[in-house]
Amino acid sequence: MQVKDKRILVVGLGKSGAAAALFLEAKGARVTVSDSKPQTQLGGLIPQLLDKGIAVETGVHGERTFRDQDLIVVSPGVPVDAPSLTQARQLGIKIIGEVELASRYLQGKIIAISGSNGKTTTTTLAGEILALAGKKVLVGGNIGTPVIDLVGGSSPEGWNVLEISSFQLETIETFHPAVSVILNITPDHLDRHRTFENYVAAKARIFENETAEDSAVLNADDPACVSVSEGIKPNIFWFSRKKEVPNGAFLRGGSIVWKTSAGETNVLAVADIPLKGSHNVENVLAAVAVGMLAGCAPERIREAVKRFKAVEHRLEFVSRTNGVDYYNDSKATNVDATMKALESFPANIHIILGGKDKGSDYSVLNTLLRQRAKRVYTIGAAAKKIEEQIAGAAPIEHCETLAKAVKSASARAVAGDVVVLAPACASFDQFENYEHRGRVFKEAVFDLVAQPVGGGAR
Ligand code: ADP
Repeated sequence: MQVKDKRILVVGLGKSGAAAALFLEAKGARVTVSDSKPQTQLGGLIPQLLDKGIAVETGVHGERTFRDQDLIVVSPGVPVDAPSLTQARQLGIKIIGEVELASRYLQGKIIAISGSNGKTTTTTLAGEILALAGKKVLVGGNIGTPVIDLVGGSSPEGWNVLEISSFQLETIETFHPAVSVILNITPDHLDRHRTFENYVAAKARIFENETAEDSAVLNADDPACVSVSEGIKPNIFWFSRKKEVPNGAFLRGGSIVWKTSAGETNVLAVADIPLKGSHNVENVLAAVAVGMLAGCAPERIREAVKRFKAVEHRLEFVSRTNGVDYYNDSKATNVDATMKALESFPANIHIILGGKDKGSDYSVLNTLLRQRAKRVYTIGAAAKKIEEQIAGAAPIEHCETLAKAVKSASARAVAGDVVVLAPACASFDQFENYEHRGRVFKEAVFDLVAQPVGGGAR
């Protein structure tokens, strides 16, 4: 891709937008960055861009800014149907995302991991498996390091394990994984994709440029994964927690088995998995499939799984205080992840729900709440909607803030209970992001350790 002397607009000044702008500038492009947020909300990235001679427009999207360009690189946070982009598209200006841009320069094979939930966990584990098996591996994408920042270190014989979101898939063109993975597709981000069908279609774009030389790893237990598999070109390797599959990874007699036309391999025992919850068995099945497809030795895969630790904010154990276990699952930002959190504990759950609503239907939690929850503590902007939709499933306490919810839960919980933050919502109403929310939760829990709430309330 020739970008020298081209006029290129980068829309959205997040981490990946800034990285794309710097990359393009270094390649000799004439770069402008535009973000509709005011400068005060954009963190400290601007001086570095200005230093390099990159033009920065903040607080507005100037109409001319979008007209006079050869190419537009759009960040995943910007809706593809934003009016300024629609207008540019009508003028015939090409619009791609940072992942697409990066993939034009990235050397080596791509393993792309998508899904509604489990992407970060599976991507991290797959990266650790390949590394322990002695492969040259880079890990990036939605997980933190923008793909464009991997380009410089990539090499033809290396592997690039990329976490890819549906937003990133909306703006691909030639992006071509050697191995694509979809872990599951359950309702999420419906505020932006509008319908579940649109969301599924965005995820299915991961196969768009794959051929019969490539592989797709798909969840056989997930109806939407089964439906997107129809008619795709790559070889399909299924994974299943519930049944044996003809080609792929499954459970038999307490072991994870990998099966292909070449035969069967017992890769590891389910008991070797050091993570909570059956959803994590699914993530391990998918990562095992990736490892086997990349040619890793089964004993290395087993070792990497045994060493793996839960990623922070994903059903992360925080502490045991007065016999009560506290778990931080701040990354449970949709109802499916919250259901998995509830399924991970048999009973006596005190669960904190709420935050910024994403157009979700919380009533799907009711059966699990009725069976397993002792009490629900609601916080944030979505509290009222949640309270209406889960009414009657468990006692509800309206708490407004996370600090108050932790206090109330700790006062109510008795030894043997669990308190879980698995809010089923985005965090942006009260926090900078889910990491911030998770840290606030952990601090509140650690404060309890310092001053145990004892006696009377129990
Ligand atoms: P993602 O990167 O897709 O958001 P994470 O690994 O960060 O995935 O996990 C996000 C949330 O989903 C956490 O609450 C986690 O406990 C839960 N989760 C992880 N794996 C799965 C899965 N396979 N199915 C459903 N929920 C999952």
